[in-house]
Amino acid sequence: MARIPHVIAGEKIDTAERYAPVFNPATGEQQHEVPLASTEQTEAAIAAAKAALPGWRATSLTKRADVFFNLRQLLKQRTPELAAIITSEHGKVLSDAAGEISRGLENVEFAAGLLHHLKGEYSEQVSTGVDVHSVKQPVGVVGCITPFNFPVMVPLWMVASAIACGNTVVLKPSERDPSASVYIADLFREAGLPDGVLNVVHGDKGSVDVILDSPDVKAVSFVGSTPIAKSIYERAAANGKRVQALGGAKNHMLVMPDADIESAADAAVSAAYGSAGERCMAVSVLVAVGDSGDKLVKAIEERIGGLVIGDGTDPSSEMGPLITKEARERVESYVAGAAAEGATVVVDGREKQFDLPGFFTGVSLIDHVKVGSKVHSDEIFGPVLAVVRAESYEEGIEIINEHQYGNGTALFTRDGRTARQFEFDVEAGMVGINVPIPVPVGSFSFGGWKDSLFGDTHIYGPESIHFYTRSKAITTRWPDPSESQIDLGFPSND
Ligand code: NAD
Repeated sequence: MARIPHVIAGEKIDTAERYAPVFNPATGEQQHEVPLASTEQTEAAIAAAKAALPGWRATSLTKRADVFFNLRQLLKQRTPELAAIITSEHGKVLSDAAGEISRGLENVEFAAGLLHHLKGEYSEQVSTGVDVHSVKQPVGVVGCITPFNFPVMVPLWMVASAIACGNTVVLKPSERDPSASVYIADLFREAGLPDGVLNVVHGDKGSVDVILDSPDVKAVSFVGSTPIAKSIYERAAANGKRVQALGGAKNHMLVMPDADIESAADAAVSAAYGSAGERCMAVSVLVAVGDSGDKLVKAIEERIGGLVIGDGTDPSSEMGPLITKEARERVESYVAGAAAEGATVVVDGREKQFDLPGFFTGVSLIDHVKVGSKVHSDEIFGPVLAVVRAESYEEGIEIINEHQYGNGTALFTRDGRTARQFEFDVEAGMVGINVPIPVPVGSFSFGGWKDSLFGDTHIYGPESIHFYTRSKAITTRWPDPSESQIDLGFPSND
């Protein structure tokens, strides 16, 4: 059985004291094992990043940019190969895997513009004969900890900007689908990145804690579930690091009675069941206003019948399996409990039969879900769409705003005035108007509100340049020696 190695200072190391299984979710079989890094191995990765820092920091911006231009080409050329790796360990269909790569590519393209992003500022003659300029310098070694559901896109959200800013990185990907991160490290190396700038260690809480506690790690980017995000935020911040920790989600899509019902139903099905609902921006609650509810539920039910669920490598499949057997059991337990919470199970995904042995479940549609019930409040992270009925826009917006999560949200309407009001009112970090999965393009930044993000900086795009750099302001004066004098007063500008 193949082992998926750590990458430390460019060297592949596949031994450890403990190993974890890596499954193919479509067959349910273990296909690889991944070493879980010991404290010493994680420390070695941090030390490699620290050793590479002075050289990478001093590398000219033009040479750094070259790496990203090369990487862009490589990622485009190798998309089929990388998509196959994603599908074999995550289960999502190949077209979805390729889509994830193309969104990650946006972050590489953004990073390639680093000469622009790292420009400082200059003010001439702020006082007589005095100028001030500011520069953006790297923070140092950055720890990046990523979830299973986007094994390429989320690592690229972080490492592209972190490296562009002159930092070095220890990436700890999800142990459930770790191969893609090793492949990304190989591509970076091929693109010209020096060894030690990007290190990959596999592991669980043990290696994450080493990263969080190391005085040599200066910043931590995390994406994962809310309880872990909160604990990462607290521990890293207590250790004096800057930290951004993106958590879970429960994204609501509000449909007004004037919306085009067929388009809204297409959007709801795509956004709820794509990638088996294992997306942090999946629509998991549909808030149907007024008489839109009955029409929408009927239209969605009709569409569900035609969905093709199967092995992600089969081009006819539209949805693949869940990541693990435990994930399937957890998702199905919510469907099983829905009726007891007063909801109506319109389509029960558990009833769908599969010839395949993997971690498959069918899609579920649950109507008349009560606000505050478990189906409404918990992040299920599977192909389950809850429909909540609301009398009015005001009731709908209150349902969204009172929810603990505030990652993405969407409004479907044909009325610009309602759309404008929604944008103004809604408590979420990313908003779609007739767009169900409003993941901002790479030139903007990504982040939620409330329990979907701990820290104050969104990820990738302009906010990531701020996060991965320290600003330094330099005040300069070239006086004639004859002007020199002692003055104990506080310097004022004149
Ligand atoms: P997870 O929280 O279980 O794991 C995320 C990472 O944390 C992994 O690398 C894992 O090894 C590590 N980890 C797990 N337990 C840990 C612990 N006790 N201490 C330290 N590290 C630990 O998340 P997941 O199941 O891999 O991913 C799914 C979750 O990620 C969902 O909640 C989803 O909403 C969220 N997510 C959020 C975003 C976003 O942008 N907000 C994006 C993608 C995924």
